[in-house]
Amino acid sequence: MNLDALFALNCGMYVISAHYEGEINGCIINALIQVTAFPPQVIASLNKESYTLSLIKQGKYFGVSVLDRDTPLQVIGLFGFRSGRHTKKFDQVEYFLGKTGVPILSEHIVAYVEAKLVRSMDAGTHEILLGEVVETDFVNAEAVPMTYDYYRSVKGGKVPRTAATFKAEKVELEEVERYRCRVCGYVYDSRFGDPDSGVPAGTRFSDLPDTWVCPICGVGKDQFEKV
Ligand code: FE
Repeated sequence: MNLDALFALNCGMYVISAHYEGEINGCIINALIQVTAFPPQVIASLNKESYTLSLIKQGKYFGVSVLDRDTPLQVIGLFGFRSGRHTKKFDQVEYFLGKTGVPILSEHIVAYVEAKLVRSMDAGTHEILLGEVVETDFVNAEAVPMTYDYYRSVKGGKVPRTAATFKAEKVELEEVERYRCRVCGYVYDSRFGDPDSGVPAGTRFSDLPDTWVCPICGVGKDQFEKV
């Protein structure tokens, strides 16, 4: 069995969100899809340890912010690698409350969905939620939705950024430096720099300021290894 083959299944990049008794939170998921049209329903899979899941189960509604392809890594890191038990994630972004009260990102999204929780199913490490769509609209219909594959391969730097659609600046260097984050797998590539953090293309890893942190998970340079 080659589990890498499962990466061939198309997935998106979403912030799923909830509110309950004044608490709001959200986290990144990639497993979400529309499953019926009449009525419109979606399913989403969330890790059981997720704080957002506990808010959804109590509040009975969830929001989905469909991230666009240019979403900065810091936003993905904030919602994907921090827990809402310790971080007020929505204090660090622009958002609005939908008609069901769930928070929706105002920036970096193509569209949003609000759904009423119909039922949930135990799936081992995860719980699968079935939700009926009660509101949905575009926020920026011209933007391109980010796929999980694009995030993995291009934004996260895990493979060379050679995708035809990749628009970031690249400089030719005699010696290319690539360093991988031991915590989240993000790869710093000196040809591209880290434009989301203001680091220009062509910056050597050793020349990154000591204040630079992994744009996804926030750890320091000492947590990186050469690849
Ligand atoms: Fe990292």
